[in-house]
Amino acid sequence: MKGNITFTMIKPDAVADGNTGAILSRIEGAGFRIVAMKKTQLSKSDAEKFYGIHRERPFFRELVEYMTSGPIVAAILEKENAVEDFRKLIGATDPTKAEEGTIRKLFAKSISANAIHGSDSDENAYIEGNFFFSMRERF
Ligand code: UDP
Ligand code: MG
Repeated sequence: MKGNITFTMIKPDAVADGNTGAILSRIEGAGFRIVAMKKTQLSKSDAEKFYGIHRERPFFRELVEYMTSGPIVAAILEKENAVEDFRKLIGATDPTKAEEGTIRKLFAKSISANAIHGSDSDENAYIEGNFFFSMRERF
């Protein structure tokens, strides 16, 4: 169902700090349904592929190193207007600019170690979901 799903990862800093449960609770509390979820660790090539769009950016090496530094929790989430509503729930990339009450404001350590990922479009939600799960037609 285009428009109703997004993809998220709870990033290594948040998992290592024991914030997985608190973050999932906020996600469910905001009305998202978890339709697939797994805890795993990205290899270097996984992280390079997932963030391929940022390959030329100055922070790419640091990003790959950080994203492979420990386990992450990947999930597909369902809700009406999922992509946009989830980006609002997580807040700005840079936690110092994130609104009060957002997941990044509450849990992120820095612009790099910013606790959580959220897809930026319906198309990317589908691509990213398929990176970790086999998404069937119902999504
Ligand atoms: N990032 C970083 N430095 C920057 C910008 C981004 O380390 O100056 C990292 C950060 O972890 C961010 C990810 O790269 O979440 C992807 O960047 P993007 O601009 O797509 O931000 P997002 O969509 O995650 O808010
Ligand atoms: Mg992005």
